[in-house]
Amino acid sequence: MDCIFCKIAKKEIPSSIVYEDEKIIMFKDLNPIAPIHILAIPKKHISSASDINSENSQIIAYIFEIIAKENKKLGLENGYRIINNCGKLGGQTVGHIHFHIVGGKELAWPKL
Ligand code: 5GP
Ligand code: ZN
Repeated sequence: MDCIFCKIAKKEIPSSIVYEDEKIIMFKDLNPIAPIHILAIPKKHISSASDINSENSQIIAYIFEIIAKENKKLGLENGYRIINNCGKLGGQTVGHIHFHIVGGKELAWPKL
């Protein structure tokens, strides 16, 4: 399958990795929208949030668990935002589920 985030997970495409274990990888977004902008992905391919089901939902909880555990090391101890864009209208451009973790400044809300 031609998926850029699967390739990043397999190190076939280089990225700035900030966290990795056997199940997930977190790396810096190529085009950051905030001083800190990290993407967290499961290594196993899931296309989007609409494809989360009882078979694979554990990895989603695990990603949130690791974000909570690592937030201080990532410089996010004073707060951050986790974003998932899902589908065409949701603004998803890469078809491998990913969570944007943005922070490093006071973030505006709720204007989109
Ligand atoms: P989406 O729009 O699907 O929610 O987010 C995709 C994100 O992936 C974008 O913020 C984009 O900058 C980032 N991105 C796309 N290709 C690459 C890449 O090859 N490497 C990295 N590090 N980020 C990428
Ligand atoms: Zn993939």
